[in-house]
Amino acid sequence: MAEYDYDLFVIGAGSGGVRAARLAAELGARVGIAEEYRIGGTCVIRGCVPKKLLVYGSRFGGDFADARGFGWSCEGSRFDWPTLIHNVKREIDRLNGVYTRTLENAGVDRFLTRAALEGPHEIKLADRDRLLSAKTILVATGSHPMIPDLPGKEHLISSNQCFELEQLPGSIVIVGAGYIGMEFASIFSGLGAAVTVLYRGDQILRDFDMDLRDGLAEAMRNRGVDLRMETDVASVEKEGGAYRVQLKRGDSVAAGLVLAATGRVPSTMGMGLRDAGVELGWDGRVVVDEFSKTSVDTIYAVGDVTHRVNLTPVAIHEATAFAETLFNNRPTPVDHSFIPTAVFSQPEIGTVGLSEEKAREMYRSVDIYKAHFRPLRSMVSGRDERMLMKLVVDMESDKVLGCHILGGDAAEIVQMVAVALKLGVTKAQLDATMALHPSAAEELVTLRHKWEAPAPVAGSDAAA
Ligand code: NDP
Repeated sequence: MAEYDYDLFVIGAGSGGVRAARLAAELGARVGIAEEYRIGGTCVIRGCVPKKLLVYGSRFGGDFADARGFGWSCEGSRFDWPTLIHNVKREIDRLNGVYTRTLENAGVDRFLTRAALEGPHEIKLADRDRLLSAKTILVATGSHPMIPDLPGKEHLISSNQCFELEQLPGSIVIVGAGYIGMEFASIFSGLGAAVTVLYRGDQILRDFDMDLRDGLAEAMRNRGVDLRMETDVASVEKEGGAYRVQLKRGDSVAAGLVLAATGRVPSTMGMGLRDAGVELGWDGRVVVDEFSKTSVDTIYAVGDVTHRVNLTPVAIHEATAFAETLFNNRPTPVDHSFIPTAVFSQPEIGTVGLSEEKAREMYRSVDIYKAHFRPLRSMVSGRDERMLMKLVVDMESDKVLGCHILGGDAAEIVQMVAVALKLGVTKAQLDATMALHPSAAEELVTLRHKWEAPAPVAGSDAAA
């Protein structure tokens, strides 16, 4: 008789959990997995994938407008929210099936119920009395939206509910200006809703490169999104079928819907982690080492629940490294450097490496190369929007420290730039690379002139 029911028991069947369970099973381990909602997790069920489909849906309006310059007439085009949501849900159901079959085919036992820890090897499932045991337990429970604690918070929805709306409201207030705030502002605005973003800080997308932040804010405003900075919400009240958002400075904004896009917190509540001896951070994150091991030798954690870098590919990478380490005898620490990321706003952001601001803090001398240009397509479509390509380079080693793009296909471009940066590409090597013409990405290998801050104008405030 085996000492434990399973070699590995995974709690949470999201991107990280499914990957770890499948790989471990394929490597010969006896694996069980528990999921309390739907197999696929946030990314597949109510995150990246359905969001990206809404992003696609929201871009057609702009494309129709651009098409006129190319001779098309698109009068009479109409958008129907229920059709979009219905089709998105159908795709999510399909993916849920794909993920379920992946586990099935790998021979992983699936338990569609909530699981919690009862000890270093013991798991309690909500729907049965007998405890299960496993040699190793992997916590991959992800994160959930944080709703700010303010009067009327029960009126706020999170991104989870955006995929369930029966109708597109005429107006939406979004609180928060991070990834989700910017992406849903662009989605709803692109689909025709009046969008107001309320942000407590001085510029959207804290910690991104300042040129991206300024450039996106300007472009979104030009596209009709009302971005209000240094604006704190006091309360939310219901007003007939709509809502009134009271601001701390005294005025208010009315909207058909109020979305809290105020961050996500690790899902560790009620999991028995502390009782099992697992160290948690102040924000509830599971503290892990470079091999994703917690303070208990038999318990590991990957993905958002560890609050390292909350992105799906990172969770998958961590899960792969975990399976390699434990079940393939290949100790694999996770390298979190040069992770490319995108904000699927309109226009889009793709970024990898250090922002100019961070690089200046960390390096003695930094060169900046920038191109700000109207893409070829805009010359004919008439869209007055500039694209930004920016490189941050360490002057001493000539290594490229960061690449920041604002504009069409930024995400697609940055994915490949990340390979080069990860390999330590220098500016000279980019210069030696032949351009692909005509493309926007060719700017990255043709940027020759260092960007100099404009000299202050005599007599202006800046010169004072
Ligand atoms: P972010 O952390 O990106 O942004 C949260 C925003 O809410 C910030 O503007 C923050 O302000 C503000 N905020 C936080 N707390 C409060 C509060 N109490 N009152 C008012 N405002 C507040 O979180 P998101 O929810 O946008 O996204 C969660 C995570 O999900 C992201 O960090 C990312 O890791 C992941 N994600 C990735 C996507 C992608 O890869 N494209 C898409 C969507 C999500 P401040 O800046 O001042 O802290």
